[in-house]
Amino acid sequence: MSSVSAREGYETVIGLEIHVQLETRSKMFCGCRVQFGAPPNTHVCPVCLGLPGALPAVNEEAVRLAVLAALALNCEVHRRSVFARKNYFYPDLPKGYQISQYDRPLATDGWLELPAVDSRPACRIDVQRLHVEEDSGKSLHDRFPGQTAVDLNRAGVPLIEVVTAPDLRSPAEARAFLGRLKQTLEYLEVSDCNMEEGSLRVDANVSVRPHGSVELPTKTEVKNVNSFSQLEKALTYEAARHVAILESGGRVQHETMLWDPARGEARPMRGKEEVHDYRYFAEPDLPTLEVTEGTVAWAAEQIPELPWEKMRRFQADYGLPAYDAEVLSATRPLAAYYEAVAHACSDPKAAANWVMVEVQAVANERGLAVTDLGVEPEQLAELIELVGAGTLSRLLGKQVLRRMVETGKTAAQIIDEEGLRKVSDERQIDGWVSEVIAEHPKEVERYCKGEEKLLAFFIGQAMHKSQGKADPDRLREALRAAMGRLDDESAGSA
Ligand SMILES: [Zn+2]
Repeated sequence: MSSVSAREGYETVIGLEIHVQLETRSKMFCGCRVQFGAPPNTHVCPVCLGLPGALPAVNEEAVRLAVLAALALNCEVHRRSVFARKNYFYPDLPKGYQISQYDRPLATDGWLELPAVDSRPACRIDVQRLHVEEDSGKSLHDRFPGQTAVDLNRAGVPLIEVVTAPDLRSPAEARAFLGRLKQTLEYLEVSDCNMEEGSLRVDANVSVRPHGSVELPTKTEVKNVNSFSQLEKALTYEAARHVAILESGGRVQHETMLWDPARGEARPMRGKEEVHDYRYFAEPDLPTLEVTEGTVAWAAEQIPELPWEKMRRFQADYGLPAYDAEVLSATRPLAAYYEAVAHACSDPKAAANWVMVEVQAVANERGLAVTDLGVEPEQLAELIELVGAGTLSRLLGKQVLRRMVETGKTAAQIIDEEGLRKVSDERQIDGWVSEVIAEHPKEVERYCKGEEKLLAFFIGQAMHKSQGKADPDRLREALRAAMGRLDDESAGSA
């Protein structure tokens, strides 16, 4: 049996554990500030350093954000839940335990819809639990040669952990689900979900079984996956490794694998790093976590229109194709920007094209988000109207957009100051056309012999001469007419 058909005989089973840093000003159990990139050990206090006798107190803001996330993931939020100590030794965990939640988590039994992936239609992925916990510190291996330093700024930063059921059936589905979850949490504004800064981290459980089997085979856990593409690669690698083991008659060991993105392979974590017995017990320094009806009601009100709802509405309200609606609802700020442009101009489809294509292109060049370019929606709408009315060609419109970004001026100001109005004057256009014809005798000959697609070449040349100002319709007409005259002449002289 070839390795390809072997893999085809198996089904991959994946569950995800996702840690998300909540966007609060202070830590989970103390008043220290949360600030990524601060000098090491500058945001610490006796509580997050784990000094004897220091007492934790719950950050209510973190609880509110966790409840909001839980409701949006369709979870049952428990009015009473319990903090628990997860005991383990690690250099960046000075207390010797992490305050987490164990047998009585904040929320359980939710789901999130996974969009259609490949041949599988959209379906619900069960969210088994969502709990609140604190982050550990960070070991720094690159500060002092041969030594490891510890930065405890991150110790005590609030996290939620979201655990899915093993409902995902391919690395591509896992990636799509993570994307949907990230987008949802960003819409909720509970986290910036910045994967590079570690605000969103994912561990994956993976196993493979023969197609048709329903039992849950031995799984491995893959850690240290820090981007969407690495998640897909790591899971593909790990599933193939399982298949190879099963095909050779072996047994998959239950172990934790560390993904190495540089080498593109997963290695078992060294035994001593793996801890099976955390000796959980209820945190004696904290009372039962009580979520009031008021908090749940507040959270329910905070849930905004979510991306897939927005996408449907954009299709209905603005007549956008599904693709445009999806792109424009990717983030909440982008969606709000598009809507403001669409409201301010008469053509929502044109508004969609401008935002998705031209404005996005300028934003990409500058490494900015569309909403950070400094072009107000009303200003963009004005530009779109000027192009729509024929005052500017589309090409000129693009130039004007660039100038708007550079100068902060409006389209009308730029057109006035730079004399950019579209030129429709017959004599001027004929002048450009004559020059182009005179400069390209070979192309003219080919055109006259029937190579009509060269018309686009002449239009491009003449447009260049006009610095983008020529009215493209008039230019095309003038070129056709001039070529027609040449044709007649050559026919006459033949
Ligand atoms: Zn602190």
